[in-house]
Amino acid sequence: MKEWYQQTKEEILESFHVTEHGLTSQEAEKILQEKGENVLQEGKRKRMFQVFAEQFCDLLVVILIIAALISMVSGNVESTIVIIAVIVMNAILGTVQHAKAEKSLDSLKSLSSPSAKVLRDGQKIELPSARVVPGDILYLEAGDLVVADGRILESFSLQVNESSLTGESANVDKSDGLITGDCALADRANMVYSSALVTYGRAVVLVTGTGMDTEIGKIAALMNATKEKKTPLQVSLDQFGSRLAMAIMVICAMVFLLSLYRKMPVIDSLMFAVALAVAAIPEALSSIVTIVQAMGTQKMAREHAIIKELKAVESLGCVSVICSDKTGTLTQNKMTVQSIYINETVLTIDQLDLTNQSHRYLLYDAILTNDSSIVDGKGIGDPTEYALVEMGRKAALDETLLRELMPRLEEIPFDSDRKLMSTKYELHSVPTVLTKGALDVLLDRTVKIRLADGVRDITQKDRDKILQKNLEFSQEGLRVLAFGYKEVSKDYALSLDNERGFTFLGLISMMDPPREESKQAVFDAKRAGIKPVMITGDHKITATAIAKQIGIFEEGDLAMTGQELDAMSEAELDQKVRDISVYARVSPENKIRIVDAWQRRGCITAMTGDGVNDAPALKKADIGVAMGITGTEVSKDAAAMILTDDNFATIIKAVANGRNVYRNIRNAIKFLLSGNMAGILSVLYTSLAALPVPFAPVHLLFINLLTDSLPAIAIGMEPAEKDLLSEAPRDPKTGILTRDFLLSILAQGGLIAVCTMIAFHMGLGSGSSAIASTMAFATLTLARLFHGFNCRSKHSILKLGFSSNWYSVGAFFAGTVLLGLVMLAPFLHRLFSVTSLTAKQFGAVCLLAVIPTIIIQVFKILRDFRHRN
Ligand code: ATP
Repeated sequence: MKEWYQQTKEEILESFHVTEHGLTSQEAEKILQEKGENVLQEGKRKRMFQVFAEQFCDLLVVILIIAALISMVSGNVESTIVIIAVIVMNAILGTVQHAKAEKSLDSLKSLSSPSAKVLRDGQKIELPSARVVPGDILYLEAGDLVVADGRILESFSLQVNESSLTGESANVDKSDGLITGDCALADRANMVYSSALVTYGRAVVLVTGTGMDTEIGKIAALMNATKEKKTPLQVSLDQFGSRLAMAIMVICAMVFLLSLYRKMPVIDSLMFAVALAVAAIPEALSSIVTIVQAMGTQKMAREHAIIKELKAVESLGCVSVICSDKTGTLTQNKMTVQSIYINETVLTIDQLDLTNQSHRYLLYDAILTNDSSIVDGKGIGDPTEYALVEMGRKAALDETLLRELMPRLEEIPFDSDRKLMSTKYELHSVPTVLTKGALDVLLDRTVKIRLADGVRDITQKDRDKILQKNLEFSQEGLRVLAFGYKEVSKDYALSLDNERGFTFLGLISMMDPPREESKQAVFDAKRAGIKPVMITGDHKITATAIAKQIGIFEEGDLAMTGQELDAMSEAELDQKVRDISVYARVSPENKIRIVDAWQRRGCITAMTGDGVNDAPALKKADIGVAMGITGTEVSKDAAAMILTDDNFATIIKAVANGRNVYRNIRNAIKFLLSGNMAGILSVLYTSLAALPVPFAPVHLLFINLLTDSLPAIAIGMEPAEKDLLSEAPRDPKTGILTRDFLLSILAQGGLIAVCTMIAFHMGLGSGSSAIASTMAFATLTLARLFHGFNCRSKHSILKLGFSSNWYSVGAFFAGTVLLGLVMLAPFLHRLFSVTSLTAKQFGAVCLLAVIPTIIIQVFKILRDFRHRN
């Protein structure tokens, strides 16, 4: 059988039993059942037991295993069982969490998976790329990701980038021509392959292969392996974990030697070392961080920001510059034509007259050099273009009829680099090229002008008049399109080289009002120490007018065009970049330079993009932000975050969420580590003071795993505080574990340790080391539960109120109930190495446990008070 590329269009349609109306939905469904979904099978994922086994490779777990062994040797079988149980439970938890995290990333991935336009039942529909089947007729246009392999049936200046498949980074031309001989993959010009990017033009394609049957599928099958990526926070916590493990081992060894020196029995000395190790290991830390991050990304997805890379959550909190597109992101992307400049006069739509030749040419140009339409009152395609269709309808020109009467002969599609679109039609039997685009571009290619009394050469005076009108429109924040045409011979072939020599027809200005929420979002960004920068393909004056309306451009700021930027040296740009708040008429390369300049200043930069050429800038930015509605698949592929509502305000919300997630993680870590610190200091103190071991390993594991986890998660759920956006962005270079942070852990842990040791001494005073140990355990547990309220925020609980985070109240009660059970249910006493206490001893425990929280809260109240004044 002939290869797909060797078959004619008729042959290939025949091979797949398809007509030009595409498959019917029933046929497609049947093929889908047969061939499976159009997805690449994931690389070999780690098996469950592999993930489970990996949970034991942690140094901290190894220390726990040693502790269990020592407990066993010392005859403390219960402790051994508890420690082993904890280790296994921890590993199960870790495995479940790994699976959950993978699932939630998968669901985020499916939210951001590409869609495809296909012909089914004779109608063009959009569907998830996974549902595309062999035999489908697929539509491709610039900015699309090719989702399956296919033979081109029709093409219009199609160019694709196949670098992911062939390694060739240059764009290649593709067309529908027939290839007869054998040829290599890269030379099959009438085929497109899955994973390629459409960089220019458009095409209609018959899908020949999907999923693992595609060329990229074959490669994927060869190198099926996914690598896990850790976020900077996870890496820094891992590093902290191993440093902590080293420190624990050294201190344990010292405590052990000290006990031996004191002539303590070896077993007792070992038990000290074990207690210390168990007290110091923050078992719940990494799972809490994962849980809080996962909850954060889910909240963001609900608020229209889909996070594709987990590390973006952390970087979001450090963002100090947001470079945003104007059209559709800061504005509504709802264009309406305002006024028309033609025959040297400004008209409204209802003054357009089809019997006037200039008017008719302008209307034809506006409707024919246009790929949009309005179906059931809804615009389809580019809003700039369907605004023109709407204008045509108001001027009594039906676009469907006109387009049927006049078939398009040739076209060069619009692209935001060139800022022009040209088509060729036969108007009144004369082949004519119609063009529309940015005035500055079109005017340079104009040689004549059409006025009421006919066509003549354009003069400088004409140009000045046109530019003056353009300026007036732009100053009102209107978007201006210029229109021109030229009559050509029959055999004239339209190309990028001959897109010039036009006759000027007129200007059409349209309004695209700012989004209502943009102004507030810009205000919030500035308050949060973030510089919003507008980057647009539109005219400088229009852009500046809109930027002023929403507060991006302020007195003393600069606006710059891409051309002016090109003329600037790096040094000059570095000097001015802070003051430039509007970049107009930018090219995608300009965007990269802008990101670069900000990054050289050490700023974490977010950059939005929607076009096919925006991908490099999105990748270069610290956080590339793609548009979910209007963005091309290529830009979504390159971005770290996708806005499902295309809205600038959503970026600010995501930044606030990113800051909150980071703050909550930091507070949860503080809570866990300060609690552990209290345990460590208590054990160290008793060791130095030659007192009995205050805690059994089971005590510390009970606290670290059960009663500490709940408040830590509750802290992770703390809602955003009002002042979240009134602080400067976090410096990305300072990690979580700063000196101040560690000092406060030491101080707060110290306070709890003091109270715990007072309880211990009281117990010892009663003559029983079992009572002493029980009192120390109960005080430490309860004090840490109270401490959960301290770590919710830097503010006092008076300012926060309990009702702002009911989870923390719930966590406190759940923890107290657990502790109560252990203390009051006699059958649990043996398992948890506790003994009964008197009411007086209970009272002392409660009082001592609440004291650290009272002291910490008083400090916070005083600090809040000082800040208010
Ligand atoms: P942003 O980058 O903020 O989204 P934009 O949408 O204005 O800005 P482009 O779409 O690149 O940027 O448009 C740049 C210029 O090209 C516009 O100012 C307009 O003059 C012209 N233009 C826009 N759309 C079309 C089109 N469909 N056909 C012809 N010219 C167009």
